[in-house]
Amino acid sequence: MSYQDRHMISLSNSKLAEAATVTIHTGTVCPCKAVSQDGLTYDAQWHRDNPAPGDEECSGSLLIATTATATNIKAVFYPIGMGGSVLPKNLESLAPIGKIQKDDLFMIGTLNTDTNTFKDLSAINEAIDYITYRSNKYAPRDGQWIPGSVGQTFHLVRRN
Ligand SMILES: [Zn+2]
Repeated sequence: MSYQDRHMISLSNSKLAEAATVTIHTGTVCPCKAVSQDGLTYDAQWHRDNPAPGDEECSGSLLIATTATATNIKAVFYPIGMGGSVLPKNLESLAPIGKIQKDDLFMIGTLNTDTNTFKDLSAINEAIDYITYRSNKYAPRDGQWIPGSVGQTFHLVRRN
């Protein structure tokens, strides 16, 4: 049994772990991506030049005609200031992010409770994908692997 499997079992059994959902969007790559300077980023000028119906604004997500899929998950959530000396490495890794809001959360996960397997959130799109926890929506940022690929941690930023 891998360490990742063990971590998933611990999330499944832990009283500290709580239910949430992750909503992931799939869709068509926006044409603005191909014309942007590096071919990877949002191009606001393309959207200004293409206001016609059918030229949907991707709003930085780089995806249009999206479909949302929600997955039930379980993870440990806590207010970002509470880590203290318990998780100094994680807090250090958050320092370069800059502004941390007081209602931001730190998430350690992630168990897919529909399949009881690890939910890899590496490719999550911060611009449109989100975690719903206690009826609030959060944008997941700065995903990091826990050493040994045991699981992943995220800085969750409250959004509307
Ligand atoms: Zn676009």
